[in-house]
Amino acid sequence: MYLLYVDQSGNPLDNNDDYFVLGGVALFERKVYWVNEAVDDLTENLFGPDYKISLRAQAINSHKYDPWHSMPTDQRLAVLADLCEITSQPDLVLFGVAVDKDFAPDPVARAFEEICNRFDLFLKRLHAQENTQRGLIIFERSKYEQTLAPFITEYRNQNTRFGQVKNFADAPAFADSNGTRLLDLAHLVSYAIYRRYQRANTMLLDQLIYNFDEEGGVIHGLVHLTRGAENCYCPSCLTRARRAPTQPHQETFRPGASAPRARTGSSEPTEA
Ligand SMILES: [Zn+2]
Repeated sequence: MYLLYVDQSGNPLDNNDDYFVLGGVALFERKVYWVNEAVDDLTENLFGPDYKISLRAQAINSHKYDPWHSMPTDQRLAVLADLCEITSQPDLVLFGVAVDKDFAPDPVARAFEEICNRFDLFLKRLHAQENTQRGLIIFERSKYEQTLAPFITEYRNQNTRFGQVKNFADAPAFADSNGTRLLDLAHLVSYAIYRRYQRANTMLLDQLIYNFDEEGGVIHGLVHLTRGAENCYCPSCLTRARRAPTQPHQETFRPGASAPRARTGSSEPTEA
């Protein structure tokens, strides 16, 4: 089974935010332990074994509160770079949706629907490569229970709006951020995307971009929903504008091997 941990950036109710973003990290279930260990080791190297803290990219970058407030800038940037390095392991596949609020009347629903479909398309591709896997999306409990509860209920009760999603083991679930380090990495992904589109700051996304789900030169895992996307030069819009000609599949992905990011060919007619 593949697990996709998702977090959000941008406040859908704040008029100062032009964008709402969902971003996440997908990995094979047996990899979860090792990624948690890597983030725990990073934390222990910084603060010792008894200091428990979430490594939230927004808190590290804004450094309003300790321990980040009193940490020198170069050390904070090194922590962010270490988090990006962990998130850029070959077995981790990234997904993200940046919704311009002018594009969609309900950016939360649109982002939720899109990230479900993108993850499902990834699982469909694995199936086409004779590697059938189910998927499960896990959101951070504190942020999503109120925001996404109506959509989760709709998913469970009707399964119509998300009718294209066919490879999930169950409806999306919630987890506490202090229970898994994967939600720290999901936050890093969503925050990196938010910084790219809201602040035009590519520092974090540049370190993560090669791990987004990709096939045939198109970054399917990163979606930019905005008016005038045909004139946008972000990695998502640019790779779609320069879509490579379709070619046959040339490799097969197995759990434990490097994740399928740079595929040739397409078995996903609905991808765009
Ligand atoms: Zn774009």
